[in-house]
Amino acid sequence: MVAIEEVRKLLESRGAVLLAHNYQRPEVQDAADYVGDSLELTLKALESKASTVVFAGVDFMAEQAAALCPGKRVLVPEPTAKCPMAAMLTPELVKRYRKRYPRAPLVVYVNTIARVKALADYVVTSANAAKLISSLDAETVLFGPDKNLAEYVAEVTGKSVVPVPKHGHCPVHEVITLECLLASKSEHPNAKVLAHPECPREVRRLADFIGSTSQMVKAASELGGKEYVIATEVGLLHRVHKADVAAYPASRYAVCVEMKKTTLSKVAASLLEGRNVVRVQPRVAEGVRSAIERSFELLGVDAPWLRR
Ligand code: SF4
Repeated sequence: MVAIEEVRKLLESRGAVLLAHNYQRPEVQDAADYVGDSLELTLKALESKASTVVFAGVDFMAEQAAALCPGKRVLVPEPTAKCPMAAMLTPELVKRYRKRYPRAPLVVYVNTIARVKALADYVVTSANAAKLISSLDAETVLFGPDKNLAEYVAEVTGKSVVPVPKHGHCPVHEVITLECLLASKSEHPNAKVLAHPECPREVRRLADFIGSTSQMVKAASELGGKEYVIATEVGLLHRVHKADVAAYPASRYAVCVEMKKTTLSKVAASLLEGRNVVRVQPRVAEGVRSAIERSFELLGVDAPWLRR
């Protein structure tokens, strides 16, 4: 087994930076330069002086980093790590819904493949989806691929949010049922519940706080609780524990096997061999950048790649 120190030495000698998603294995998170959600990590890749970026996450995250950082080499330690929810929204499906709703803007969740992002009007995270959609001059909005996030955004904004596809979902968050949340709450009656908006409605209804993974980590420090039940993928517990609070999973079965495919040995191997370079066609990358730029503009956020 490769140790964290070995990976750190390799990263240094190769002039590389390691980015790890909040759902990665604890030891991969501990070896990383940055831990966060997917867009946050892409922005870290842009800011970094490193010429090589190792992205410990799933396919759409590494693609996004490659699209926004064309001057950098993006390596993915485990190329078979793919998000099943992202795969539920295809370019063909986008075209079909565009035809059916010609006036509705298409907003896609960051958890989509690059070819879909390139066809979208806007790209959002779970942290800013409601803000962006409420600022659109449209009452009906197409949103994909997560139906739970679409429903949450509709509740918050009061808009008609059409899920694309109808039943798109994260299989990991679907495992977090009302029954298991209630069981966890009864074991920890004083704990506050932090939930990700990808969770089903009945779970969201019992939450004290709903937000993205990074917002949940922040909330664990700011809500003043000593104990939390965490309704998202179990990998986030590692980060929440660092806030010096007790945290318990809403469901211990909420494990993303795709995220867990990345190990320290695979990070080391990809660095040593320079293998699994992520490539995005220039035309697709341009489309991804444009969709994210439009979104940033609407949100009043500076697009860092335009500063260069
Ligand atoms: S947790 Fe869900 S959305 Fe995230 S990568 Fe895994 S399957 Fe995809």
